[in-house]
Amino acid sequence: MNIYLLSSPESTYGSAWYVDKEVIGQTIRCSVNPNHIHGGKRQSDLSILLTARIIKSFIWTWYSDCILPEETYQWFLDMKFTGFTVRPVKARMKKNPPEPVIIPPLWELVLTGWGGIAPENSGIKLDEYCPYCKSVSYTGFHNPTTLFDEKQWDGSDIFMIWPLPNYIFVTERVAETIIKKKMTGCRVIPLKDVRTADSLGPGLLSYYMTEERIRELNLPDDFRENLV
Ligand SMILES: [Zn+2]
Repeated sequence: MNIYLLSSPESTYGSAWYVDKEVIGQTIRCSVNPNHIHGGKRQSDLSILLTARIIKSFIWTWYSDCILPEETYQWFLDMKFTGFTVRPVKARMKKNPPEPVIIPPLWELVLTGWGGIAPENSGIKLDEYCPYCKSVSYTGFHNPTTLFDEKQWDGSDIFMIWPLPNYIFVTERVAETIIKKKMTGCRVIPLKDVRTADSLGPGLLSYYMTEERIRELNLPDDFRENLV
């Protein structure tokens, strides 16, 4: 099975900013180790400042959120892609352009598709885990083709592999649609060409996926106890 990574463009030109005080984050500090500080679950929908006047098929924020303009969202629905839901995004231009820009409704892509947990032979394993603040780190991977274990995959078109919750994995059907429709503002990268990582610090699964969906997943007991 060929899978692909849906990724932001190489250049960060046009990346959207968060509106201060409207995007409510969460900072988790450890009661035991003062070196453990990490971002938790976002408490609000996105509110962003657009920096490019041309609305491309995909918009990305500086924090790697993937945003679908209405037209792209409709394509995803028309194609009956599975494995995602959306949250509304509030947006305005960062600077007032000379001519007004019409901003379509925008939707944050939220993954519900599950590609399982990266298998051991990927080299990814739990490296550090703090039971007090749930700060989590994993060793990285050097061969991206080992990340995907088809047996664990729920069959979704768009899905997450743990512990890479910010990586948007897609099936060939999605990749082909994006290429055929000449969608802009993204890259579709074959799994073998995904850039390797030396370490990963995802936080907990519940920062990224809804509780309802997590309940449905077939997770190992120790994962469910400690990493959700
Ligand atoms: Zn801690």
